Amino acid sequence: MTAASFESIIQGREFLDLLQEGVWVADERGVCVYANQSLAAILGYENTTALVGRPWHEFFPPREPDRFLKAVPDSRDLRLVPDALMLDKQGRPVPVSVGLSRHSSGGLTWYVGTVLAAAASAEGSGLSEETGRQLLANAEDGICILRDGLVINANARFEELSGYQANQLYGTPLVRLLSGRDREVVAAAIAGPGRLSAPQSQRVALSTRSGDELTCELRLVPSRENSHALVLVFLHDLSQMRRAEQSRTDFVAAVSHELRTPLAAIKESVSLAAESASPHLAERERRYLQIAQEEISRLNRMIANLLEASRMESGKFRLDLQEVDLAAILERSVAGLSLFINRKKIAVERLFPDALPPVLGDADRLLQVFNNLLDNAIKYTPAGGTIRVHAQPVEPGAPVLAEPGLLPNTAYVEVTVTDSGPGIPAEFLNRIFGKFERVDPQGPGIGLGLANVRAIVELHYGRVWARSALGEGTSFSFVLPAKGGR
Ligand code: ADP
Repeated sequence: MTAASFESIIQGREFLDLLQEGVWVADERGVCVYANQSLAAILGYENTTALVGRPWHEFFPPREPDRFLKAVPDSRDLRLVPDALMLDKQGRPVPVSVGLSRHSSGGLTWYVGTVLAAAASAEGSGLSEETGRQLLANAEDGICILRDGLVINANARFEELSGYQANQLYGTPLVRLLSGRDREVVAAAIAGPGRLSAPQSQRVALSTRSGDELTCELRLVPSRENSHALVLVFLHDLSQMRRAEQSRTDFVAAVSHELRTPLAAIKESVSLAAESASPHLAERERRYLQIAQEEISRLNRMIANLLEASRMESGKFRLDLQEVDLAAILERSVAGLSLFINRKKIAVERLFPDALPPVLGDADRLLQVFNNLLDNAIKYTPAGGTIRVHAQPVEPGAPVLAEPGLLPNTAYVEVTVTDSGPGIPAEFLNRIFGKFERVDPQGPGIGLGLANVRAIVELHYGRVWARSALGEGTSFSFVLPAKGGR
């Protein structure tokens, strides 16, 4: 075909301007050689001069043409995409139906595109398109829409949070904006049509354009348009809340730390007073001193728990792993709690086999585990009662190791602390391991001891649980990997 005959293809220009559809014709390089007036109107241009001479790909967000271009390899093969997006004069997405066909004859190839603006919102549905746009533009949350996991629309707040402009986001997989671990979880949630059947939320780290990580609440809501499954994504910035949490944690850590020095001095003075003056003191005064000593060591444990909890929250927490003999740690713990044990005349029975393997652990942290469990057991065991501490090796593959978070093919050591206290109601057996959880909210203590026990044990790839019969007592068990146990 010659240039003159090519002219003949486009000579019905006036007729084409009367069509409701937008039409463009592009040459074999993909450059627009003709566009009708309707296309200009759909895209918000006054006339077609801004369209002619440009590659037709530019009428679309990046990667959008790939969806239908691949599908028109053969001459006259018309590809219809009912839910495509084009870009208007301001670069904003315009929902349209697009048809694209490729023609070749006489050694020339050209493309014809037809565009129909997507039906405006049904009359009586309440919101105008403009209102919908305003809603998106002014929303507090970042909002984007996904089709096949790819971003097809993003509001201003989403641009602000991610640091990318909307036209850079179009066609990008949402998961590319997330950090490694979150990627897998979110990809699994949105993979495949019909996968996401109900809204779901989770905390994620958004990788922003500047390379920062922003903690956000990500809400995924399944939606549908025409026959296409879409996902509406809402992104709520949590970093400010995180900063507030962090300064609270830092404050608690700083105060707890400052309390330790005067408390150590008080402890030292009171024990010196108790030791040097005791022969001359009346029984009643000696008792006062003993109470002071007990309360000082209780305060010390409380501060240790506060410090430990805030350290773990701050993420600056490292275990100092070495070979640890649990029997020796138990002895250190019993010695530290001897004032209470003796005052209540409690017997601590140790049932440790001679050949108990050592564990790989952080001795000071494991001492805290014993301190917290024994402290509770002493608190709840009636005077004159018995606390039993029992340990045994656990073979790799034992049923107790089937729980999540444990290493199934590893040898473990199991320790159980049993008291003869009032017991714990069944509905609290799991809850008491949460921060600030107590059976009696008015009772003594701050509810951090068991939360720390669980965090420390889990950091060692172990697990802790409680069993109880009301009126008979409670037993707390934990398992820790044996050293060289794999
Ligand atoms: P705290 O002792 O500071 O309150 P913990 O986290 O150590 O915090 O314990 C949480 C709660 O679990 C306690 O307040 C108590 O209600 C319950 N609890 C813990 N150990 C025992 C036990 N051995 N017997 C009965 N109740 C217990």
